Formats: sequence, structure tokens, C-alpha cells
Amino acid sequence: AKSEGAGSYAFYTREMTERAREHILLESALRRALEAGELQLHFQPQVDMDDGRPIGCEVLARWHHPELGTVSPARFIPLAEETGLILELGAWVLENACRLAKGWLDRGLDFGRIAVNVSGCQIRHRVICDQVAQALARSGLPPSRLELEVTEGFIMEKAEDAIGILEALRDQGITLAIDDFGTGYSSLVYLKRLPIHCLKIDQSFVRDLPEDREDAAICQAVIALGQALGLETLAEGVETEAQRRFLLQHGCRLGQGYLFSRPLPAEAFEKWLTR
Ligand code: C2E
Ligand code: CA
Ligand code: CA
Ligand code: CA
Repeated sequence: AKSEGAGSYAFYTREMTERAREHILLESALRRALEAGELQLHFQPQVDMDDGRPIGCEVLARWHHPELGTVSPARFIPLAEETGLILELGAWVLENACRLAKGWLDRGLDFGRIAVNVSGCQIRHRVICDQVAQALARSGLPPSRLELEVTEGFIMEKAEDAIGILEALRDQGITLAIDDFGTGYSSLVYLKRLPIHCLKIDQSFVRDLPEDREDAAICQAVIALGQALGLETLAEGVETEAQRRFLLQHGCRLGQGYLFSRPLPAEAFEKWLTR
């Protein structure tokens, strides 16, 4: 039993070293990717589910690594957060999203608003207000065209601090949405005080609509909460006609998902707008 224990220990450390090595490789690759232009922005339309009219788009980062291929943001965003690189990456996303959006406005393409994902790190380090001010000033994009998506978990972790920073952002003229709503533990007391204008219903609650009774009840509750607080609700991950119908019937007008469009590169998104 003793030797077996030692063996599994050796295996365990080997595996750890392997993972640590991969981690370091990925980290330096990501650092380089920012400079080498391997990062790209995709845009997923957000629509009025009643008539399909575009009301905005969510900006989603993509990493095309020359050897690894496409690395998912679900993988590289947490890595960027761990290493602090998210501050630089977040600034890059904001700058480029605002610049592209200003270009669309100048060409008469009405995309509504662009919604940019913001990491808790950017807020915790209080860099977000300057990053937003700079991206708006450099691009010339009107603030009302920019929305930031912030996750519920982060806001509630340090709600008093978050309220102050989000208020400063709102005072710059931009709008704020709570992302993945329903997956964290929102206190209703704080929710009432947050300067937000939209709740994004997490796709995990939309996936099994309309059959799953609990998920149906949760979606209805979030929609009712939004209405009671005077907030927009936007459903994520809408893939089927039945989901769209259910959400509309229960008062959620705004949605985003494969039913309407996948996230698209800039040129394809421009074509989608003029379709
Ligand atoms: P998220 O903010 O919840 O973004 C929605 C995710 O759902 C995206 O995954 C999108 O491609 C995917 N999606 C959209 N429609 C559907 C659908 O109908 N069905 C299904 N199953 N999925 C759908 P993606 O692009 O892989 O991004 C994953 C996460 O990475 C995002 O989740 C967000 O948390 C993070 N992320 C992406 N870009 C950025 C960024 O620029 N900054 C930060 N901080 N995070 C980002
Ligand atoms: Ca989001
Ligand atoms: Ca989300
Ligand atoms: Ca269930």
C-alpha cells in the first residue's frame, strides 16, 4: 500500500507539472497574441424577439493561435484574469469595439448599442472608468451607444464598492447590464440600488424551455423582477422557436442566440445588419 501511495504521488506531481507548464506556455502565448493581432472581436446580434429588429450586439473575444487553432474565451479569459493580463486585454477589447462601432455609425449602419463584457478584475482594480473614458474619447463613439456587461457574482461579492464604481460609469453616460443573471446570489436590496438598466437571463435557464417547469418558473420570476424594478430583460442562448415564443409570451422582448445569429466577425455582422 505504501509503494502504491508513493506511485500515485509521483503521478500526481507529474500531472501538476504538466498543467503548470501548459499554463505558462499559454500565458506567454496570450501575451504575445495581444501584440501580434491574434485576438479578434466577434459580434452577436441582440434583437427584439417580436419583430427581429436589431437592438444591439454583444462583443465576444476570439483568439486564433497559429498552432493551437481557435482558443475559446472560456479558457483564455480565466487565464488572463489569473495573470493580470485581463487589464490590458480588457482595454484592447474596449478600444477596438468602440472604434469599430464608431465606423459603423459613420457609415450609417444602425447597430443599436454594443455590449462589452467586463471582468471583475477591471472593476476591482478601478481601471474601468479610465478605460471607458479613453475608449470613448479616442473613438468618438457617443457614450449612449456603449453598454457594459458585469457578472452578478462579482457585483454581490463586494456590493458597496461595486455600486460606487458602477455609478461613476453610469455618470459617463453608458448603460450597464447584469450578465448571467440568476446564477449568483443577488440580494434584492442591492439590486434595487444598482444603477443598471438590463438583466441578462442566463442561458442555463433558457436551454430547457419551455418543457422544464423549474426553468420556466425561474425565467418568469426574473422577467417579473425586471418589470417590477423597471429594468429591461434580455434572454441569452435562445436557440429554438419554442423558446422565443415562451419568452415573448411572458414579457421578455429582447433576446440573443443561435436562433437569430451566431457571433459574427465584423464584416459578416455588417452584412447581417444590412440584410
Ligand atoms: P457570456 O458573456 O455569457 O457570453 C455568451 C456565450 O454564449 C458566448 O460564448 C456565446 O458565443 C455563447 N452563445 C451565444 N448564443 C448561444 C446559443 O444560442 N447557444 C449556446 N449554447 N451558446 C450561445 P463565448 O463567445 O465562447 O464566450 C464565453 C465567455 O467568455 C463569455 O460568456 C464571457 O464570459 C467571456 N468573454 C468573451 N469575450 C470576453 C471579453 O472580451 N471580456 C471578458 N471579460 N470576457 C469575455
Ligand atoms: Ca456576456
Ligand atoms: Ca452571459
Ligand atoms: Ca430542472
